[in-house]
Amino acid sequence: MSEALLTDLRFHRLLLAFDQDLAARARTGRCRRCGGVLHSARYRRKPRGLPAGLGDEYRQRFSFCCAARQCCKRKTVMSLRFLGRKMYAAAILVLISALRHGATQATRHRLQALVGASRRTITRWHRWWCETFVSTAFWQSARASLDVPVSTAALPASLLERFAGDPATQLQALLRFLGPLTGGAAVHAM
Ligand SMILES: [Zn+2]
Repeated sequence: MSEALLTDLRFHRLLLAFDQDLAARARTGRCRRCGGVLHSARYRRKPRGLPAGLGDEYRQRFSFCCAARQCCKRKTVMSLRFLGRKMYAAAILVLISALRHGATQATRHRLQALVGASRRTITRWHRWWCETFVSTAFWQSARASLDVPVSTAALPASLLERFAGDPATQLQALLRFLGPLTGGAAVHAM
């Protein structure tokens, strides 16, 4: 199931559509520092691990800059495609990390090879979930809102299974849940 999602262009395009929608809404806002008008200031990313054929816009991170010359405050929009400064696409990072729990070793190795992630990268992601992610202010506050505690050692699989629906719906919901980590000041804190 993970394999189908990893390579499903429609699924990844849907994430782009969500990001476009979030950007369109952010566009109508004003600068939080001075109230000035916002101008588009997209920047290029090269998200790794994605299937070919997603097009150029997929590699653009939606962001805005205040048009007032003396201000220039940047506002980067929450994203379902990018998780902060992580090199890999957010969906890939979540899915591959979640395989640690429940997938056979053979499946894990095949899918890691499919997205081109080395064992070192996977270990780094695991550490990120278990150490960095759990210590963010976002998670500290989000976990308090969960009725039943989530196993920290089994992140992100333990979190993914909290969302209802088929695997695509669960993953979308988790990416949206992680959204506050991906926009604004939090991007630079990661
Ligand atoms: Zn401003």
